Amino acid sequence: METMKAAVFHGQGDLRVEERPVPEPGPGEALLRIKYCGICGSDLEAYRYGLYEPGIVIGHEIAAEVAAVGPGVAGLAPGDRVTSNDIVPCGECRYCRTGRVSICDAVTMPGVTCDGGFAEYMTVAARALYRLPDGVSDLQAALTDPSSNALHAVNRSGLRLGDRVLVIGAGPIGLLIVQAALLAGARRVFVAEMNETRRCLAREMGASEVINPEVDNLDLAVADLTEDQGADVVFCASGSPGAMASTFTLVRKGGVVVPVGICEQPVAADFLSLVMNELDYRGTYASYDEYGLALDLMAQGRWRTEPLVSAVIPLEQIVAEGFEVLLQPGAAAAKILVRP
Ligand SMILES: [Zn+2]
Ligand SMILES: [Zn+2]
Repeated sequence: METMKAAVFHGQGDLRVEERPVPEPGPGEALLRIKYCGICGSDLEAYRYGLYEPGIVIGHEIAAEVAAVGPGVAGLAPGDRVTSNDIVPCGECRYCRTGRVSICDAVTMPGVTCDGGFAEYMTVAARALYRLPDGVSDLQAALTDPSSNALHAVNRSGLRLGDRVLVIGAGPIGLLIVQAALLAGARRVFVAEMNETRRCLAREMGASEVINPEVDNLDLAVADLTEDQGADVVFCASGSPGAMASTFTLVRKGGVVVPVGICEQPVAADFLSLVMNELDYRGTYASYDEYGLALDLMAQGRWRTEPLVSAVIPLEQIVAEGFEVLLQPGAAAAKILVRP
């Protein structure tokens, strides 16, 4: 039996690179040779809190090449460059049927509910794959998933031309939301971030003002920038309970708050402001159709991902140079890609 190296999740704080058999593509599946797989904030949370089933190969932000196809797969051939949607929807539940695919009742998520991409090979339903447009590199394509999630967050927000936007947290998703908000017509995007490297990246992605909330009072800074109104739309791309709780006073009356960060702890929330100021609170989770949009924008040169790549590391170093680095408080790194 042919074997490969894969990063297997064994529970809280326990991820090991092991030898696994190379999987066989079943009916409707493709076998992928992984070029890059990005470490996602959700992988970090799962590692920190032990959220996934022990024994699975994690990783879902992939760029790959088709190595083989299973029975019944048409239109894909070995050598095709692809990325995979991290959601394989059931296609039948009420949410799939009404276009709310990211909240599908019976979703399969490679790297979350079944084996994923921190490995030399993985199998995935061929219907989840997108062929990479010419001119989109494998490295760029490895950020299709977070790009798509950022575009979905902005779609969920209903952001309108001329809105003033605040993004809290300039990790990969926050940085990509800056870009998506500007594409959607934001007049100005303000970013709150404690880490200096990430603040520089936020400016590079087009933020007009970047605030360090450890130095400057964020409420006062945002009031200053918005004639005491507050931001029209606030995206909270930080998983910290304090950041989540702060959103209620940073948004203007009648404004929209979109919590994006994964926060495991309960948050003390200011429901009085929510009621009195008629705030809209709109959760956003993963994405679906925005994958094709993200790839098309990359192909047109209208979507940048390279500035976010802080490091490319070998699979063997996934814990020491990947997870442990990103989990340090105040981590400067944005996206770390694993190259199996
Ligand atoms: Zn992800
Ligand atoms: Zn469904």
